[in-house]
Amino acid sequence: MNSAKRLAIGIDLGTTFSAVACLDDLGRPYTLDNAEGDKLTPSAVFFDHAEVVVGKEAVKAIATDASQVAECTKRKVGERVLDQLLGGRQYPPEAILAWILNKLRIDARQQVGDIDQVVITVPAYFDEVRRKATQDAGYIAGFEVMDIINEPTAAAIAYGFQQGITAAGKHNRQPQHVLVYDLGGGTFDVTIMRIRDDDFVTLATDGDVQLGGRDWDERLVDLVAEDFLRQHGIDPRDDPNARGRLWRDCEDAKRTLSARNQTNVVCDYQGRTSRLEISRARFQEITQDLLDRTAFTTRQALQASGLEWSDLDRILLVGGSTRMPAVADVLADLSGMAPDRSISPDEAVAHGAALHAAQLLDRHAGKTPAFHVTNVNSHSLGVAATDPRTNRPRNAILIPRNTPLPARAQRVFKTQKAGQKSILVQVVEGESPAPEDCLQLGKCTVRPLPPDLPAQTPVEVRFAYEENGRLQVQVQCAGQELQHEITRDNSLTADQLDRWREYISGAPPTASAGQRSSE
Ligand code: AMP
Repeated sequence: MNSAKRLAIGIDLGTTFSAVACLDDLGRPYTLDNAEGDKLTPSAVFFDHAEVVVGKEAVKAIATDASQVAECTKRKVGERVLDQLLGGRQYPPEAILAWILNKLRIDARQQVGDIDQVVITVPAYFDEVRRKATQDAGYIAGFEVMDIINEPTAAAIAYGFQQGITAAGKHNRQPQHVLVYDLGGGTFDVTIMRIRDDDFVTLATDGDVQLGGRDWDERLVDLVAEDFLRQHGIDPRDDPNARGRLWRDCEDAKRTLSARNQTNVVCDYQGRTSRLEISRARFQEITQDLLDRTAFTTRQALQASGLEWSDLDRILLVGGSTRMPAVADVLADLSGMAPDRSISPDEAVAHGAALHAAQLLDRHAGKTPAFHVTNVNSHSLGVAATDPRTNRPRNAILIPRNTPLPARAQRVFKTQKAGQKSILVQVVEGESPAPEDCLQLGKCTVRPLPPDLPAQTPVEVRFAYEENGRLQVQVQCAGQELQHEITRDNSLTADQLDRWREYISGAPPTASAGQRSSE
């Protein structure tokens, strides 16, 4: 029997910082402190010989052992292994994320006892492969991942709770249209939601999984390093530790520039020193194109939602990078309204995840959930098909992006020859007509086909995107359910997941198929 308490736990697994939230006895979300007494845990992992150190201490090591610190790993999710050699080994991104989650689990235990069932958040713009990898990281860390939900949706739930929208019996009637602008350390998401009574409906979502505060930091690093190079003829970026120190100082300077108009960054390298004065205006100038990218994506998402700026009731700012004054300025220019800063940009996502976890637990216990969430898919789902006109491969889109979830689609494939034993379907995600420009989600092999089928026998393949954006496939032929297997190039197998789980969290494998999300 599992002795863990049924606590509602939400985890914001961020690119640069992570947070865990729980509900108090009155059902209000609060953020748990980590072992160092902080609410935010840096998502960095330091391989110090035999010891694996996570969080603040790992960030400190960037100044002395940069090559042994894994950071911004969330940006590499979906790759098979990291390029970086850590302790002489190349790890899959899932394992690094699992070490972070494992620390969060152990630290949370000190405050609330053992936890096992959790909700983990992902950027709305994460594709299916990255969603699965996040779920797998949770499994490796010893959790039962009840659900993964989109970060902006979680933030909107936290906002709804704060406004009393999710409270039983409160009916606002008038729907609110909310735009969530979420700029974190490594990813950018924009989501437009309609909140009516206890119903949270996503109308459109867009984003960039390679755009975040880290890119603003890098611009400052380059500015200071080039100034140093001009003065001394050597480049501090050539040495990973010097670069790490410079990045830490620049990240700090960036924060200062959110509060003040001027700061300076001192750079020491090989016994030489430079000191550069940087104004907020200069910083905004060298990062304007990054901000413009977010503005462009925001406009696109709004258009996809079918709304105008004047239809919006509120713009919610989420993610630490929205503290940069330029963010609120550009949104105010676009929309004509001042963005809302009433929810904590660092904690709202974890809080919303904990509220979502609570309503899942309620649902499992047969109670009526306090609110209902409808999401959309952030990327189109298709199969690689042959265009009969050109005879070239093309992406046959089955579920277009921004379709409300769960969504289903089916496609009939025909056997080519008599007695064919298997069918191979290449599943892709993306908007490009060329399958090679899309994300290769996996190959679905239907095997074995019933014996002695004539040529041209129809085989029906059904695709379903679940509410969390994960894919399920079913195959039927002549009314009979057929076995199939999805192979994913960069994913860990169920056995590998079990081995990593034992290694990192010491937890035994679970038999639950939902947890071993190997499909
Ligand atoms: P998150 O992923 O939401 O925790 O956001 C982390 C990002 O927010 C990092 O890139 C931080 O450097 C950035 N950040 C946090 N506070 C500030 C601030 N005051 N000004 C500018 N950026 C900040």
